[in-house]
Amino acid sequence: MDTPASAAALPTDTRGRALHDLRISVTDRCNFRCVYCMPKSVFGAEWRFLDRKDLLSFEEIERVARAFVRCGVRKLRLTGGEPLVRRQLETLVERLARIDGVEDLSLTTNAALLTPARAEALKSAGLHRINVSLDSLRDEVFKRINDVQFPVAKVLAGIDAAAAAGLGPVKVNMVVKRGLNGDEVADVAEHFRGTGHIVRFIEFMDVGNTNGWRLDDVMGAREIAEAIGARFPIAPVQPNYRGEVAKRWRYVDGAGEVGIISSVTRPFCGGCTRARLSAEGKVYTCLFASAGTDFRAILREGISDEALTQRVAALWGRRDDRYSEIRTFETDKLASLGPKVEMSYIGG
Ligand code: SAM
Ligand code: SF4
Ligand code: SF4
Repeated sequence: MDTPASAAALPTDTRGRALHDLRISVTDRCNFRCVYCMPKSVFGAEWRFLDRKDLLSFEEIERVARAFVRCGVRKLRLTGGEPLVRRQLETLVERLARIDGVEDLSLTTNAALLTPARAEALKSAGLHRINVSLDSLRDEVFKRINDVQFPVAKVLAGIDAAAAAGLGPVKVNMVVKRGLNGDEVADVAEHFRGTGHIVRFIEFMDVGNTNGWRLDDVMGAREIAEAIGARFPIAPVQPNYRGEVAKRWRYVDGAGEVGIISSVTRPFCGGCTRARLSAEGKVYTCLFASAGTDFRAILREGISDEALTQRVAALWGRRDDRYSEIRTFETDKLASLGPKVEMSYIGG
């Protein structure tokens, strides 16, 4: 009943892009204070996080997710803030895993709370895969990034726990920032080579308004690939599907593959099929949007499932976002786009 009758009925946006993925932020809170995402200078003791009553309930999230699935979504990803700080997350996973039409249900986490028991509980609840963020293998650098003295070894243990629970292959996300961890690209590649985990190197992005982004800090995809290739020969791999965000490379000797996400130097807006649901129920059709559409209000006013689906389809039909292309190719138009939503709010 959640699967649409025919592909012809599915909405496309004004640039002909289908709706395929939904990222669901389950909380705006986090147990880290990564300097590029939730710097302590902004997200300090004074920062007001959302009240519990303002968060979407699991039932509300499920209703929105079902409406998106009826409009073509096949991939759901839970994120945050830090999704594992949301209590009873497994209950939400169970609800989402039961939706017909969901082919991929994953979670992005900093792994601080990813014990073996938690990983097993998530797997039994129906989670398919886990992405773990890890920006450095050097404790001193990693602690400077997470800014809460969290050690690398515990994240590595979380990655192992996910793999042991059957939530692999684990994708390990490393945001690369020149001058911070740019010199570690080949070391991180080497560490995970041959383990079955897939490292994805992510260009440092100008998300939000608080992370002090400068183009000079971006280590571009080409430079990242050169750094890896200088140590281990790599060759490009064909994308799995249109719109795949990571450009894939395989080790020529067969020791696995890596991905490079080049949202700054080679924007992929043309194939972007992703929507985002914030923890308080706003839908964003672009990571860099300045405004979202409030779904919480209409849910709490008692909207029907059918009308909810129509709202999703109408919103997607109006979409014309392509921020990264404008940032890279039409910088003169950037100022007109307004302040962006924070990453910790919609979850990357
Ligand atoms: N807390 C979870 C985590 O860190 O995995 C999930 C939310 S976090 C916002 C999602 C992803 O966004 C992480 O992999 C993080 O490294 C990435 N991210 C945050 N700020 C970024 C930035 N300025 N540029 C690129 N990636 C960023
Ligand atoms: Fe928290 Fe993830 Fe942002 Fe780091 S990147 S502050 S772990 S939400
Ligand atoms: Fe998609 Fe917006 Fe990123 Fe372009 S900038 S790829 S439209 S989220």
